[in-house]
Amino acid sequence: MENPYLLLTPGPLSTSKEVRMSMLRDWCTWDQDYNELVQEVRNRLTALAANDSDAYTAVLMQGSGTFCVESVIGSVIPQDKGKLLIATNGAYGDRIVQMAKMLNIPVAVSVTDERSSTNLSEIKKILDTDLDITHVAVVHCETTTGMLNPIEEVCRLAKEYHKVTIVDAMSSFGGIQIDVSALRIDYLISSANKCIQGVPGFGFVIANRAELEGCKGFARSLSLDLYDQYRTMEEHHGKWRFTSPTHVVRAFYQALLELEKEGGVPARYERYRCNQKRLVGGMMENGFKPLLKEEDQSPIITSFLYPKNREFTFESFYKRLKEKGFVIYPGKISKVETFRIGNIGEVYPKDIERLVETVKDVNLSEGVFSV
Ligand SMILES: *Cc1c(COP(=O)(O)O)cnc(C)c1O
Repeated sequence: MENPYLLLTPGPLSTSKEVRMSMLRDWCTWDQDYNELVQEVRNRLTALAANDSDAYTAVLMQGSGTFCVESVIGSVIPQDKGKLLIATNGAYGDRIVQMAKMLNIPVAVSVTDERSSTNLSEIKKILDTDLDITHVAVVHCETTTGMLNPIEEVCRLAKEYHKVTIVDAMSSFGGIQIDVSALRIDYLISSANKCIQGVPGFGFVIANRAELEGCKGFARSLSLDLYDQYRTMEEHHGKWRFTSPTHVVRAFYQALLELEKEGGVPARYERYRCNQKRLVGGMMENGFKPLLKEEDQSPIITSFLYPKNREFTFESFYKRLKEKGFVIYPGKISKVETFRIGNIGEVYPKDIERLVETVKDVNLSEGVFSV
């Protein structure tokens, strides 16, 4: 079964045929075959994320990426004395603030404009003055815009103040090298359907084992209890507490094999980087400007401004590209009008080349707007 179009979206994204084919059998959730598969996935994830992989563990959690973020926020902060500092410059950072508030977790927030990177001096100031803070959370690639936030600096600063560090690396992990042990990240969160290139259905947390071991009884939710999920996976060798997304896990395992075959994260990063460079170059040739400064831009997804002085509507642009086999993404920021094009997934420079040509054709021949 071939896909009718290429997804240029930041997840779910276009997967390989082999990943999709690997789902064509059923699994028993408590059988050894399946649980060994889960353990293999956990071990591979830990090895991908940490040089010092003994100090870390991988916990898988049902649901989309947000469920997994909520499971961390709700499970690792003590109920009586925790306070979370969140650095946000987009919808995913804001979502962490919203979660913490719903869970009655005290918060401090460092907000920067969606077009500006994390404000490190403000974070330092907050850490200097607010002594109640115990945990610091930051989003790596803020998918709202495509901004890559400086997690190295944020984590270094947080650790100077002895805080627990939480990184939402949902849309970057697997596509950008991150060593959680070197960066001293205690909880890194990502999901199956982003840069590892699996299908949607679960997320995962790479956790500092010693930190997580201390979180017994902190959870504010039964089904999203990260500690309990961890204990069950450890004690029962790969068992999930409740029905696990078996086919999705099998597809994810296939995606991990393909990541390894490609040459690991450095090779995947290089492919994504080439895709993104060509995307921006080609879109600029077609008269579109990217939203962010080049130094803030991730190799994952790019926001483009609506062209000025032209009769441009996103709906019509979207429709015409879709007819020609490409699905792009609307914008998500409030202050200026943008649309987004992702370049992760089973997407290669030749696909981006075809996209650029197609945008040119749409521009010139179909009268959406003229160059
Ligand atoms: C995709 C994403 C999430 C999770 O979104 P879901 O729709 O719940 O999968 C969280 N944070 C970031 C930065 C993301 O890109």
